[in-house]
Amino acid sequence: MSGPRWFPDAMPTPAVDRETLPWWQAAAEHRLLLQRCDTCGCVRLPPGPLCPTCRSFDQSWQEASGRGTVYTYTIVHRAYVRGLPVPYVVAVVALEEGPKLTSNVVDVEPAAVQIGMAVEVVWEDMGPAVSVPRFRPRR
Ligand code: ZN
Repeated sequence: MSGPRWFPDAMPTPAVDRETLPWWQAAAEHRLLLQRCDTCGCVRLPPGPLCPTCRSFDQSWQEASGRGTVYTYTIVHRAYVRGLPVPYVVAVVALEEGPKLTSNVVDVEPAAVQIGMAVEVVWEDMGPAVSVPRFRPRR
């Protein structure tokens, strides 16, 4: 897969572990997953071994809609890796299923980003098996 790019190859690759590997494998297929507790039904992100609400280890994956709103954000003006175009937006996106995901808002002038802005996921393929969810204003 190769789609639009917003960030350079010099960006650090995600840290993957046993708990997050299925999430990243789905991301490589452009599917945004949430973890759902089989005992109490709460939905969570990031993935973890046990439910923070009821401490159950029973969980399954569900696919998120990819829609959300900007919960909060900041505009970064200093490049910390070579080739990083600034300014760019780091945002906490409140997904419509409830969990929040820290990501970037792209395809918009940073100054136009607002808290509460409706956004949707868009995938950036950072390598053959690594895709990262970003968000753009909802169309
Ligand atoms: Zn639970």
